[in-house]
Amino acid sequence: MPTENRYCQCCAQVLYGRLDKKFCDDGCRNNYNNQQNSVQNKEIRIINRVLKRNRAILLKLLELGNKPTKIDREFLLLEGFNFRYMTQQGISPDGQTYQICYDVGLISKQNMEYLIVLAKDVAY
Ligand SMILES: [Zn+2]
Repeated sequence: MPTENRYCQCCAQVLYGRLDKKFCDDGCRNNYNNQQNSVQNKEIRIINRVLKRNRAILLKLLELGNKPTKIDREFLLLEGFNFRYMTQQGISPDGQTYQICYDVGLISKQNMEYLIVLAKDVAY
């Protein structure tokens, strides 16, 4: 009975043996999994870098000013802040929109301004 060839997901050689086999051997399985992980880890590393930079920018500005510090959106963008990546966001019981980056965050104010605060000081 003719059967369709199956190929190793790592090196693309024809596979023999069990029908559920996906790799030639443990070496190919490990190579494949490491490759998959490194691709995923790269994405995660990029996002983590953005989050860390966002946190560093907020903490620096918080330390420079009198806490809590009011800042405008344009200034944050010029500092390299990326609004797409935060660790948490929501609306506090008193109706204020907040975004948190680990332990520091922003409360949205009028006219594209934000109040930089420590996460522990945000009422949510
Ligand atoms: Zn292989």
